[in-house]
Amino acid sequence: MPPARASHGPVIVDLSNVAKDPSIAFSHSHAALVRWDRLRALWVRERGEPVAWLLVADESIVRGMSRSDTQRLHAMTSRGEVVMVPDADTHLLALAISQRGVILSNDRFVDHLRTPGIEQARLVGWTLRDRTLCLVDRSLDRLQSVLISQRAAKQERKQLGLIEGAPELDFKWFCRSEPCPRDMVALPRLERRRILCPQCGSYLERGEAWRSPVWLKILHGSVEIARFVLEDGDSIRVGRASDGATLSLAGEIELADDVLHLDPHHLELMNEGGTTWVADLNTQHGTAMRYPASKRSNVLLPPVQLEVGREVALPLAARVVMGRTPFTVQIAGRPGG
Ligand SMILES: [Zn+2]
Repeated sequence: MPPARASHGPVIVDLSNVAKDPSIAFSHSHAALVRWDRLRALWVRERGEPVAWLLVADESIVRGMSRSDTQRLHAMTSRGEVVMVPDADTHLLALAISQRGVILSNDRFVDHLRTPGIEQARLVGWTLRDRTLCLVDRSLDRLQSVLISQRAAKQERKQLGLIEGAPELDFKWFCRSEPCPRDMVALPRLERRRILCPQCGSYLERGEAWRSPVWLKILHGSVEIARFVLEDGDSIRVGRASDGATLSLAGEIELADDVLHLDPHHLELMNEGGTTWVADLNTQHGTAMRYPASKRSNVLLPPVQLEVGREVALPLAARVVMGRTPFTVQIAGRPGG
């Protein structure tokens, strides 16, 4: 847990996110500054006045506001209290990283997890507990780690109650339980139709649907060692580097002999509109594709080496072979889905 109260930087407020959250305070308007007033008072009561407040809002915020709030916002903007930008998320993160500030938002910034320096950013959100509004510390680096499921051996996934292509996997899930270190949960636990946090057992809150998700798995021989999801427009590197932006196999200690034959950045996987593309990253032992012999066959053709720098589509049932190791990458999607 981060030392939340010992904050010396400014508080960077995601004003659009705050003003639009009906759980903070009731309003007839879609966006209301009374919610900011209430959250600010809560912050001061719980954590004291910060060195500075930096308010950032999407320009579109005024569309959901009453006339009096719009006037008040303009006055705040002309006094320099609020910055209006086309894309608040990017601006908030840049400020948080450069000013060593804390972001006040309930947004998860999942589209920005590869922003350099994001692991330094700190995030405080809010939640209702027994109808009382309270502040909750969240960390952004944690979000990235949950995208990549921990060792998801087949047996373990059965225990989670998940079947290949379960409809629950089309959505992001969030654990709101404060003591739980998980925030976003990619692989929820299903128990008699209840959708639970695999770590703490709390009920999960359903977030938005993944955009054209592709679920991928990494196998060592026939044993699944990792499962993860790529959204449309998302990409990830796989290798033995531990740089936070790479799905690293360096932690597979008992497979170290094979891991050493991987490059730090071995291959890159990209999701473009639901199609997965693979590229070898100029590696020592290369990357190869094994295509199925026919549509219905489990028999794979001999490996075809990928050309460096050339992206190749990864069809269902094909395997990507990393170097000359037993590590392979496959789509874990539903057949025909
Ligand atoms: Zn949990």
